[in-house]
Amino acid sequence: MDHFLYRDGSLHAEDVPLTEIAAAVGTPVYVYSAATLLRHYRLFDEALAWGPHLVCYAVKAASNVAILKLLGDAGAGMDVVSEGEYRRARAAGVPGDRIVFSGVGKTEGEMRHVLAGGVRQINLESEPEMRLLSRVAAEMGVEVPVTVRVNPDVDAKTHEKIATGRSENKFGIPIARAREVYAEIDRLPGLRVVGIDVHIGSQLTDLDPFRQAYRKVAQLTGALRADGHAIERLDLGGGLGIPYARSNLAPPVPQEYGAVIREEVGHLGCEVEIEPGRLIAGNAGLLLASTIYVKEGEGRDFLILDAAMNDLIRPAMYGAHHDIVTVAEPAAGTETRPYDIVGPVCETGDTFAKAREMPQIKARDLVAFRSAGAYGAVMASEYNARPLVPEVLVQGSDWAVIRPRPSYEEMILREAIPQWLSAG
Ligand SMILES: *Cc1c(COP(=O)(O)O)cnc(C)c1O
Repeated sequence: MDHFLYRDGSLHAEDVPLTEIAAAVGTPVYVYSAATLLRHYRLFDEALAWGPHLVCYAVKAASNVAILKLLGDAGAGMDVVSEGEYRRARAAGVPGDRIVFSGVGKTEGEMRHVLAGGVRQINLESEPEMRLLSRVAAEMGVEVPVTVRVNPDVDAKTHEKIATGRSENKFGIPIARAREVYAEIDRLPGLRVVGIDVHIGSQLTDLDPFRQAYRKVAQLTGALRADGHAIERLDLGGGLGIPYARSNLAPPVPQEYGAVIREEVGHLGCEVEIEPGRLIAGNAGLLLASTIYVKEGEGRDFLILDAAMNDLIRPAMYGAHHDIVTVAEPAAGTETRPYDIVGPVCETGDTFAKAREMPQIKARDLVAFRSAGAYGAVMASEYNARPLVPEVLVQGSDWAVIRPRPSYEEMILREAIPQWLSAG
C-alpha cells in the first residue's frame, strides 16, 4: 500500500497534488512519500518483532540524506556499500553502530574511514579483503566485528542482472569453504567473528529461494559454533520484491517473509539483521514527467516525455515494467489507446513502454511512473547533458525539494578546460 491516490480528480502524494509540485519544481522530478517509506520500514520491523533484530535499510536503493534521516530517526540501521553511502548515513545522523558495511570491493581507504568513524560490522566478501581488513584494523589498533558473506548457490529466480546467490556470481565466498575461512579469521589480528551474512538477489517474488538460503545458513551456524565461533548475528540480506504492475500477483509481504526467517533461523537465538531496499523505497516514490509531444507514427503514436532513460534507467537496463498513469484521473469508462512511451535521448533504448494502453494524452499532460522510488534517482545521470533529476519529499501536506535540479551554469562550471587548451 502506498500514499499516492487520486483525490478531486488528480493524483496526490499524501495531501499534496502532484500538479502543485510540477508547477513549482518543473518536471521530470522524483516525488517520495514519507508515510509510505515509514510504513514499509515498520512492516519489516514488526515482521521480526518475535526476536532481537535490526532492519538495515539498503541505502543504495534511494540514498538521499533526507530519506536516510527519516528512516534513521525511526530506528532503522543502514546497509552501505561504499564510503559515499557511509558518509550519507552519518550525515543523516545515523550512528556508526547501526551501519553495516557490505560490498565486493571495499578499498583500504574506505576501511580506514569506517573504522575511524565507527561501524556495526563489516561483511567480508573475499579472502584478500579479509586479509587487508585485518592488517588495517591491526594497524589502527581496533578489533572490527565481521561476518562472512556466504554464497549459498541458490537460484533466486529473478532477473539475471540482480541475482547474486549463484556460484557463478561474483558475490561472497562459496558456502562449502566457509569453515576454512572462519578458521583463518580466528588466526588473524583485528577481526572478531560475530555472525554470517547472505544476500541472494533482488526483486524476489517467491519465498522459496530465501528459505533454501536461510536453511543453509542455519546449518552453517551449527557447524561454525561446533568449531568454536561465536555466531550471534545473522545478516539475511535484502531482496524481497514489489508489485511493479498493479495486475501482478502480489509478491509475499514482509509478515510472511518474517515468518520464514523465524521458521528457518528463529531457534538459533541469533540477532537477525535484514537489508531491504527496494521494498522500502520502491513504491514510496514516483517519477513525475510531462508530455512534450504526441507524435503520430506508422501504426502507433509516440508519447515523447521530458523524462528519459538518464532519469530512470530500469526499463532500458532490465527491461523493467513501470505502471505509467495520468496525473489527471481518467473518468470511469475512459477509452484507452496504445502508445509507445519514450524519452528524448538519442538512443532507441530510451523507450519506457511499447503499445501501452493509456487514456488519450495531449502535449503538456502530466504522467507519473509508479514504483520508481528504488533504483531510480540513484541511477540517474546527466547523459545528453540533461540536468540531474531533482527529488522532492512529501509528508502530509508539507513538501520540500531534497535535491534541487542543477542549473546549466552549475553543470558547466563543474568541468574545467585545461590551461593548454585555453592559452592563446
Ligand atoms: C542491493 C542489496 C540489498 C538490497 O536489495 P533489495 O532488493 O533492494 O532489497 C541488500 N543487501 C545487499 C548486500 C545488497 O547488495
